[in-house]
Amino acid sequence: MSSAPVQYTTVTSGNNSDGEREGAKPKVPRRTPMACQFCRGRKLKCDGRSTCGNCERRAIPCVYMPVAAQNQK
Ligand SMILES: [Zn+2]
Ligand SMILES: [Zn+2]
Repeated sequence: MSSAPVQYTTVTSGNNSDGEREGAKPKVPRRTPMACQFCRGRKLKCDGRSTCGNCERRAIPCVYMPVAAQNQK
């Protein structure tokens, strides 16, 4: 049995070691600008008032979604 020495070639396949990086970002205090549903959907700047200007202009009900339950994947 003559087995030739197997040469292992180091194949550098895209090593995805760029997972979640945490610890390098300064934790920003929770200052999420409350935006109503309408502004959120339209990516508008919400005043954060009980009835924001955008909703007031359109005469639509300004609804805010509670951010109590945060479902993170
Ligand atoms: Zn709004
Ligand atoms: Zn609104």
